[in-house]
Order: sequence, then C-alpha cells, then structure tokens
Amino acid sequence: MSSLNLKNIYKVYPSGVVAVSDFNLDIEDKEFIVLVGPSGCGKSTTLRMIAGLEEISSGELYIDGNLVNSVVPKDRDIAMVFQNYALYPHMTVYDNMAFGLKLRKMPKDQIDQRVKEAARILGIEMYLSRKPKALSGGQRQRVALGRAIVREPKVFLLDEPLSNLDAKLRAQMRTEITKLHNRLATTFIYVTHDQIEAMTMGTRIVVMKDGFMQQVDTPINLYDHPINQFVAGFIGTPQMNFFTGRLVGTKNDVSVEFGLDKIRLPQDKVDLIVNLEKYLNTDREIVLGIRPENVHDDKDWIAHHGKDSTIEVKVDVIEALGPETILYCKTKSEMSEEEKSIADDISNLVAKVDSRSATVANTHINVAFDMVHCHLFDKETEVTILAKDETNKAEIEALQAKREEEEAAKAAAKLEAQAAEDAKANAALEKQRAKMEKKAAKKDKAE
Ligand code: ADP
Repeated sequence: MSSLNLKNIYKVYPSGVVAVSDFNLDIEDKEFIVLVGPSGCGKSTTLRMIAGLEEISSGELYIDGNLVNSVVPKDRDIAMVFQNYALYPHMTVYDNMAFGLKLRKMPKDQIDQRVKEAARILGIEMYLSRKPKALSGGQRQRVALGRAIVREPKVFLLDEPLSNLDAKLRAQMRTEITKLHNRLATTFIYVTHDQIEAMTMGTRIVVMKDGFMQQVDTPINLYDHPINQFVAGFIGTPQMNFFTGRLVGTKNDVSVEFGLDKIRLPQDKVDLIVNLEKYLNTDREIVLGIRPENVHDDKDWIAHHGKDSTIEVKVDVIEALGPETILYCKTKSEMSEEEKSIADDISNLVAKVDSRSATVANTHINVAFDMVHCHLFDKETEVTILAKDETNKAEIEALQAKREEEEAAKAAAKLEAQAAEDAKANAALEKQRAKMEKKAAKKDKAE
C-alpha cells in the first residue's frame, strides 16, 4: 500500500520565489500520476518535496496516512529517477544497481537476487558487467530505473527521465515505463513538460502553471473538457485554435460570431453553457476553441453539416505528414491583399485533415467546424463556460466567480500601484517646483 496525500502545500524559496502554491492532491495506491506543465511551473519542486530533497514551506504531506514533512529522504521508502541518470562511471552496471542496497547492509545473496530480477525485468542482464560508458542512452536509463527498482520502494518518482533520449528511443522507453508500472504495481509520480508523455502514460494528469494546479483529470477528460484556455492549449498537437468573439441569437438558436464569420452552436452545447444570459447578445467576449482535428475540408462532411457550420478560408501552407495532412489557413478577417512580411502574415486556423485530402495551397476553400466538439471560454477569466454535464454547472460557476474576484483584485492592485506611482511622481515634481521657487526668490532678493 502506498497512498499519498498532499494538503495545501507551498514552496517559497529563500530568494522569495513562490515555486508551488496550494498544491492539493490525493494519490491512490498504484496510480501513475503525471505532473505536466511548461518549464518553471513548479513540477520538479513538487516532486523534490515529496522525495524530501526540498523542505515543504507550509502544508502537509502524508504517505500511507503518516505525516512525513520532517522524515528524512532515506526513511520515506521512495526511489527517484533523474533525467541525467546519475550513474557512477567507475562502477559496473551490477555495482551501480547494488550500491544502495550495500549501503543499507542488505545480505549479499538478497542483493544478488534483487539485482538479477530487476535486470531481467529491464532486459539488461547481458550488460551487468559493463561500465556505464559502454552503454547507449536508453540502456543507461534502464540501469537508472533498475537502481530504483531493486529498492522495492513504495513510490517511484521520475523527473523527466526521458528528456535526454532521442525521439525514437523516447517513444520506446515510454511504453517500457508503462509496462514497468503494470508489472511492479506501485505508485508512480512522473514529471514531464511533454504533453504526449503525459497523455500516454498517466492514469491521471496534473496540469500546472506558475506554481498553481490548473486541472487534475484523466487524459481523455483533459482533452475533452479542459477547464480553462491554458489547459486547452497545452494538451493536444497541433494546438487548439482560438477565436475571440461573441454569442448572438436567441436562447434556442445561438451562434458564435468571430471576426467576419459566424457559426451556429448545436442546441446540446447551448444547454450546457453556464450563465448564457451573461454572454448572449452582450458585450462580454468569449473565446471559441476548436481543435485542428475537428476542422474538416471533406466535401461530403461539409455538405452533410450544412452552411451554418462552414466558413471560407484561404489555405496558406500544406504539410503532408503521411498519416495526416496539416492545413495552415487564414479566416476572412486575416485575409488581406496587402503584402505583409512573413512574420506578420498569420495563419490563424490550423486544420488536421485526411492525408488523401485534395486541398491545394493558395486556394480559397470551405471548411466545417465539428461544433459538437467545440469549446467556449470566458475571454476575461479564461475559464470554460461549457459544463461537462448538468451536475458540473455549479462548479464552473464557482470557478468563474473566483477568477472574476481575482481579476478584480488584480485590477484594483494595479490601480493602487499606479496611484502610488503618480503620487510619488507628483511629490517629486512638487519638490522640484518648490526648489526652483526658492532659488528664484533668492535670486530676486540678491537683485
Ligand atoms: P519545473 O520543474 O516545472 O521546470 P521548478 O520546480 O524547477 O520548475 O521551478 C519552479 C520555480 O522555482 C522556477 O521559477 C525556478 O526558477 C524556481 N526555483 C527552482 N529551484 C530553485 C532554487 N533552488 N532556488 C530558488 N528558486 C528556485
């Protein structure tokens, strides 16, 4: 058994950097949790706090129900695998794997049994007498995993373990680590900035940004129901398309108006909008999100779905990748006859279409949005306004309200800071004026 509970965990480095804020997560035994997010979002810090390599500034960490905040790393029964392998170059693979157990004074025959069993699981039995320099990157990473396995820890922590490998090997090691997790049936916590690793390996994924958890969910739920624009943009390649616009029409016939285009929302989607009246025919902007794979250029598809889900675009560039083709297009509002520099010339719609598509570059075509799979976000808060189902509406409403409050507080703080800045500038001016007046008076007197 190895469950973990992280409660209101914060990390503030001595420099004042708040690396992790209010991290809350209950991890069940045998889960494969992935922490994912851009560089600097606090993933490694969180992992290192779990390992005990970094002090927890505030909050509580429980392993199997026991508070471990002040338990030293070696007593936490956790093994960590790093990106840079950290193998001892002068030791053989066998000794690298046995080293930690020797330090723990484990009997020799038991060490031998564990090392050989780990080597068998990882398929590195034939390299046991080699030194690390005589191994490939993938083999070294397997030794690093082996060194963790022999300890039979309660929890495996893996910090970007595949980043140093080339793309092909990374894909292979991804499946190997998944198999290893199935085989060992132990809790894994894995840190990566790569959303493909997260989606393919995690039973649940924690998406982080600026030290804050954004969403914790299964891969498919993150893909289908991203809670905000950040998660929507982070998960999926190519990235989701976003268009700022407004909701117009009547309660039973709602369309999204964006740029010079307009697309109708299916009624099932309209029924899931939280606080429709706040957005319908008002000035409050929304962001329409549509994934490239939900934009179709297939004529039959377009004919079947009708005019109100179709827009005209100009195709700028086509990338035929083999299994699929990517179209880089411009919607009407981006089309212009003016010559622009390459940097200013924006293709604002990306479509992932069938590789047999007949579309050619530099033509105007119709594309249809599969609005059953569209996403809608509040432009200001960036939180979704589409509930997963009826029961989820209250949760989204609360999140919207919280974000609005935060935005208002931020705006107020900004105004206050501006006012303080203005006051300071005024005071300086006043001082200068007084000084000049004094000087003038002195001059007058002298004359
Ligand atoms: P990630 O793993 O997501 O790339 P990290 O957890 O390494 O992010 O870092 C989170 C934030 O904390 C970053 O802003 C980083 O610069 C800062 N940070 C990390 N380690 C230290 C440290 N030892 N001292 C001060 N700041 C740190």
